[in-house]
Amino acid sequence: MAENREILFLKPQLKDVVWGGNKLRDEFGYAAGDSTGECWGISAHPNGDCEIANGAYEGKTLAALYQEHRELFGDITAEEFPLLVKIIDAKQDLSIQVHPDDAYVKEHESCPYGKTECWYVMDCPEDAKLVIGHHAKTRQELADMIHEGRYEELIRQIPIKKGDFIQITPGTVHAIKGGFTILETQQSSDITYRVYDYGRLVDGKERPLHVKQSIDVINVPDKAGDEAVSHTDGLPDDTMNMLIACEFYKVWKLHVKTEVTVEQKYPFLLASVLEGEGSVNGTAVKKGAHFILPSGYGEAVFAGDMELILSTL
Ligand code: ZN
Repeated sequence: MAENREILFLKPQLKDVVWGGNKLRDEFGYAAGDSTGECWGISAHPNGDCEIANGAYEGKTLAALYQEHRELFGDITAEEFPLLVKIIDAKQDLSIQVHPDDAYVKEHESCPYGKTECWYVMDCPEDAKLVIGHHAKTRQELADMIHEGRYEELIRQIPIKKGDFIQITPGTVHAIKGGFTILETQQSSDITYRVYDYGRLVDGKERPLHVKQSIDVINVPDKAGDEAVSHTDGLPDDTMNMLIACEFYKVWKLHVKTEVTVEQKYPFLLASVLEGEGSVNGTAVKKGAHFILPSGYGEAVFAGDMELILSTL
């Protein structure tokens, strides 16, 4: 197996949204605007397919690279590149939403993947809460509460602090609130059902709600519970700290303080620098960088002072 294949850096895809702000430009240095809410850092999704920024494959999109050079991804058989990594910066509240699973999208949508996602909380206000789960006991009660607009009664709010990690399985009602910056690792899907949008007007009208789909896919009774949230304070530096291993992905947090050697033994290893700067095998990286260590990369020496989130299948 070839050793030390090139690191693949990606050009992020930026998304302007009603709830976005200017932090992605001002703090991360992306070419973003005043209402940019999402930076798709590693994505081969048709709604935001990132170009490779360097080396032999410069200018090729990740989706094309995945189709043409599957050996870089360990020859996995998934029909489309399976993961999507984004930074979300919410200046205002996002709608309350829910995602379908693989089985539901195969029947009702024309895309291969449902959406399991997880969030690493990079920043949030003091005493912040997120919407994770709901209080309806039966599907009838859920439908009644939604039809009668009793959202405050329906949703469950959980206290969250910076550094928390949250797994959102399909069918879990959730919402990110204003003031949160998160790194999201997810299945490569863009299917979201909007449960409630706080009655907000966008261009003079309310965005459509997906009432039927929401009532179909929301888990009843809710099974998100407190176990959806874990805390990362106290994790050791210079160590790959696994945050989750589920059917769809494994995610680690790595705080490089001096130097750490990571054996790239996975089909691919995705990495995003959340804070600080340093190097990977001598190549400089800093806050806002997103890159892939391809299959067969071998040993990667991370050095410097920086925080990363990494993931693979
Ligand atoms: Zn979501």
